[in-house]
Amino acid sequence: MTDLLREANLIGGDWVGADDGGTIDVTNPADGALIGTIPKSGAAETRRAIDAAYAAFPAYAAKTVTERAALLRALAAEITDNADELARILTLEQGKPLAEARGEVLSSAAYIQWFAEEARRTRGEVIPSPWPNRRLMTTKHPVGVVAAITPWNFPSSMLARKIGPALAAGCPVVVKPATATPYSGLAWGVLAERAGFPKGVVNVLTGSARAIAGEIMDNPKVRKVTFTGSTEIGKELLRGAAGTVKKVSMELGGNAPFIVFDDADIDRAIDGAMIAKFRNAGQTCICSNRVYVQAGIYPAFVERLAERAKALKVAPGLEEGAEQGPLVDAPALEKISELVQDAIDKGGKILAGGAPHARGGLFYAPTVIADATPDMRVTQEEIFGPVAPVYRFETEEEVIRMANDTVYGLAAYAYTADLGRAFRLQDGLEYGLIGINEVLIVTPEIPFGGLKESGMGKEGGWQGLDDYLETRYTCLGGL
Ligand code: NAP
Repeated sequence: MTDLLREANLIGGDWVGADDGGTIDVTNPADGALIGTIPKSGAAETRRAIDAAYAAFPAYAAKTVTERAALLRALAAEITDNADELARILTLEQGKPLAEARGEVLSSAAYIQWFAEEARRTRGEVIPSPWPNRRLMTTKHPVGVVAAITPWNFPSSMLARKIGPALAAGCPVVVKPATATPYSGLAWGVLAERAGFPKGVVNVLTGSARAIAGEIMDNPKVRKVTFTGSTEIGKELLRGAAGTVKKVSMELGGNAPFIVFDDADIDRAIDGAMIAKFRNAGQTCICSNRVYVQAGIYPAFVERLAERAKALKVAPGLEEGAEQGPLVDAPALEKISELVQDAIDKGGKILAGGAPHARGGLFYAPTVIADATPDMRVTQEEIFGPVAPVYRFETEEEVIRMANDTVYGLAAYAYTADLGRAFRLQDGLEYGLIGINEVLIVTPEIPFGGLKESGMGKEGGWQGLDDYLETRYTCLGGL
């Protein structure tokens, strides 16, 4: 076992097990093999982690921005220097191809680097006073202890987007990674120690989601909760935050439309569709969920998309050349099978895949379904798997209406050569992230976040740091 693969909680600078010694097994989704165990912690361990963070807060917040920026740069360097090992851990626990895992790890380093830089630009303002002899000012202050709860699909970069701004702003963190993929998060504990963060500033613990989150939500010492995961759990946490009026950032589910107009560069659109759909086996919140293709190019487009899907190499993430790994667990495979069967029952035509992959286990065949219709479950539900339902449309107005007909509003993609239409789509699509003729649109410099039931708050950009700061107003009178 490498030094980065930890099987203990990091609480107040100590690596410890659960109070009652309980553990949870963690397995590799590619073959079901046991990777190791993690502590099955609950409310008591969480309370201690929060206390440790709370105790560390005054001294950490008092560090100068240059000191905090230096710590973050050291953390980014640790991630980059250990990228190969971190990528291997990520693939082992999550299943994605090693190249994708390495990309995620390097993107984590880029987020930490970005927030190291942004830390030095957290300025307040001096406001022109309507009164004589007074000076009106705003100043920025860290919100306090931050709790972060993250999902299994991006176990490293989702943490980076939360830990990065929190630490840059001067907030200690208590982190709960997903139980299916805890080792990337626990490795962050090791890296934070090596980077020189003081004890108690970074705490990581694993275990019962309900017990850990329950303590986080009830504890008044936690001033902000940042969550990435399903809309269902996000809503629960929002209700829980009301009790102590915590600040929240919620990155929740998505149902991205991918729209291709007759005038699009088809080669580019096909390449984009493959990435937007099959990356991480379709298990990303910004994966395209519904592919809308204009009638004039529909037959050629679905045929080509199906050919490309059939050619994908489905294999364990550590295998050379793997392009699509396994799904995360058995319920995920079951859900995908149900969604595909529902689409078939309602008239969908399978052009590729349509069943678990011949490799068995948790592998599902890359799937393209033609003649998709609005009454299919895949239209309203987040698929979270390698299944592309393709719908036919006639007009721009019609497709914008169909694209917006969902409770979600995270990402949308469109391919067109018409500049006027591109701007109309920018206005018309009710989404927080819009890619026109591009699908790889996420980078630390931009404010990532959803509209409607896809969440609130931004990660990345200057807004990503601002979400971890409070604005205080001071009036200085009698001048
Ligand atoms: P999830 O089931 O909501 O789990 C996310 C996290 O919440 C995990 O750490 C989980 O812990 C924890 N959790 C589970 N039950 C909880 C409870 N009752 N109270 C508090 N926390 C609880 O989501 P997931 O299946 O891991 O992730 C997939 C979802 O995340 C999708 O909907 C996807 O769209 C969304 N996502 C959104 C974004 C975005 O930026 N908008 C990015 C990535 C993913 P356990 O692992 O211990 O159950």
